[in-house]
Amino acid sequence: HVRIDGLNKWFGAMHVLKNIDLSVGAGARIVVCGPSGSGKSTLIRCINGLEPFQKGTIQLDGTALGRNARDTATARRLTGMVFQSFNLFPHLTVLANCTLALRLVLLKPAREAEEIAMQHLTAVHIPEKAQAYPAQLSGGQQQRVAIARALCLNPRIMLFDEPTSALDPEMIKEVLDVMIALAGSGVTMVCVTHEMGFAREVADEIVFMDEGRIVEHASSRDFFSRAAHPRARLFMDTIL
Ligand code: ATP
Ligand code: MG
Repeated sequence: HVRIDGLNKWFGAMHVLKNIDLSVGAGARIVVCGPSGSGKSTLIRCINGLEPFQKGTIQLDGTALGRNARDTATARRLTGMVFQSFNLFPHLTVLANCTLALRLVLLKPAREAEEIAMQHLTAVHIPEKAQAYPAQLSGGQQQRVAIARALCLNPRIMLFDEPTSALDPEMIKEVLDVMIALAGSGVTMVCVTHEMGFAREVADEIVFMDEGRIVEHASSRDFFSRAAHPRARLFMDTIL
């Protein structure tokens, strides 16, 4: 479970996250949307411990990020992250991409790491590509490998930052289908996405950001049915 209180972040003089309060219950599925530059990626990167922040607190299952090195490491290990650009290691096979952290971070023996990796590659429907290199895969396949790789470490919280926006249209569905299946597994999900069909089908709650603030946080049903914050309304009208 994720709990953010009074989060503020600046890049130099630029105030990019302004008094963010957000609580994501265990197993909840939240979609974060909003215009370009509103701070969505920065927020997700703060949750996963990639970005330092200046004010406020972020707790993951009760452990605070940024308080000290040990707690930060413990909290970071609870999250898995999938980026817009798949970020696979190009010189490693699909299987080696998935086993790397299992072996180096969790110190699993090679055989066990491979078994875990193959389970997750099977779950994303791509076990036959285990020995291929990332460049030999389509974008959708690479993104499914990136999801499998993140899941190998058994995260409690999966963070997605526009996982389909770099994909050709015909590959978006195969990635969203994997995310929909994942949503049924009980893992907590925070997804930055503009895929409103996915949001409607899967999200419990929608968070809409604008200029570094959360300007709307509603149940998915309310967000899609009621006239929301005018800025959110305008945004929805332009993307739907
Ligand atoms: P997009 O929809 O385009 O991905 P976003 O909502 O994810 O946008 P962020 O990437 O979080 O927005 O950026 C929020 C603000 O912070 C923007 O004004 C951006 O220019 C700025 N910013 C982001 N990363 C950095 C950085 N490393 N250094 C300085 N400024 C940054
Ligand atoms: Mg972004």
